[in-house]
Amino acid sequence: MTDSAAARALYDETYENYRDYVNPPLARVMKLSGSPVEVSAEGVTIVDHNGKSYLDFAGGYGVFTLGYRHPRVVAAVRAQLDAMALSGRTMFNPLLGRLAKRLAELTPGDLKISFFANSGTEAVEGALKLARAATKRAKFVGTQGAFHGKTFGALSVSGREAFRAPFAPLLADVVFAPFGDLTALAALVDDAAAVIVEPVQGEGGVNVPPPEYLRGVRELCDRSGALFIADEVQTGLGRCGALFACDLAGVVPDVMTLAKGLSGGVMPIGAYVARPGVWNAAYAKDPLLHTSTFGGNPLACAAALAALDVLVEDDLAANARARGAELLAGAREIAARYPDAIAEVRGVGLLVGVELRNEGYGGTIIPELLKRGVTAAWTLNQQRVIRLEPPLIVTAAQIATALRAFDEAVAVAVERLGVLVCPT
Ligand code: PLP
Repeated sequence: MTDSAAARALYDETYENYRDYVNPPLARVMKLSGSPVEVSAEGVTIVDHNGKSYLDFAGGYGVFTLGYRHPRVVAAVRAQLDAMALSGRTMFNPLLGRLAKRLAELTPGDLKISFFANSGTEAVEGALKLARAATKRAKFVGTQGAFHGKTFGALSVSGREAFRAPFAPLLADVVFAPFGDLTALAALVDDAAAVIVEPVQGEGGVNVPPPEYLRGVRELCDRSGALFIADEVQTGLGRCGALFACDLAGVVPDVMTLAKGLSGGVMPIGAYVARPGVWNAAYAKDPLLHTSTFGGNPLACAAALAALDVLVEDDLAANARARGAELLAGAREIAARYPDAIAEVRGVGLLVGVELRNEGYGGTIIPELLKRGVTAAWTLNQQRVIRLEPPLIVTAAQIATALRAFDEAVAVAVERLGVLVCPT
């Protein structure tokens, strides 16, 4: 078989398996939009079944803070694999303890006690349960457009009706305030167990709140006795140009959730980090109320410890600030030339969203970017916003390359589609 015949066979096999055994409608949509098969990856680059390279500006939806297969993280995982992969769970594990200590050192204020899970949504589940057990209250306040995950609890505090409706009834006692609106929040917070907020809404369309918002949430929680859960699953770990987006606002939440970039994109891991008083109020009497078999396993902890070292030692938050400023400025310059297609470009650090005037443009822009060797992705709760969220190790030259591709892709979309009417 020639190389190209082998590549074609791999594509066909993978597509057919997705179509027949994974998710038939999604398989067809991915095929129509020209999605290739990923085969290997390194740094900012993914290589497909044809050997073509892509700059990954979807960034695994924020997972690949350190790029793919960072050598220090891979080495740490390899070494751990030779010692012990998963925990027996009946003994202490040194890596889990070390990771919890390291997170206590790095997270703001007196956040100290960590619980480890395997994903963002599990971290959120843990935080919600912690809040109920600690406060003995039931109500949660979320924000409209928020995304916290798709398990029942996390979905219950998430704000996209299309994702929620088929699974009703979700958790009772959940109310939503418009994101960024402290007056609305003040009217809802009184008897709440917790307010859960993303410092910047990622999947909601990269929505950046007014500068005083997080401090206002903190004050309202202090006044009402509700806990402040900051969901930093996407914004944390350097993404927004600081170790945590809460640091940018100078705010210490009661509970912080983390996942995505926590292991530098090598192992799945999620966590919440809580203030000791909150954790004690919930679990001091029964430490086994909330547990996970795989959460905080040695491989994931080894990866996270190495990833946190790289994040801090290489000051990737500073690179996120510098490269993010270039990406934002470049995308805004392009947007200004296509005012009928692009409504706004916004973001913080390397979490950048391009709001289109009609989602139809995205259906051309994303595949056209792909043709030019750049990945991008929709935000999950807002189909008119395309995210540009490359690894924090991205270089200025790679930003420039992606921006050139973006410019061409927008030009193709506008030429092909003309002026689309914005849906009201
Ligand atoms: N919280 C936030 C802010 C997220 O952006 C996401 C995923 O995009 C989640 C939670 C859920 O994470 P996971 O998909 O790992 O369950």
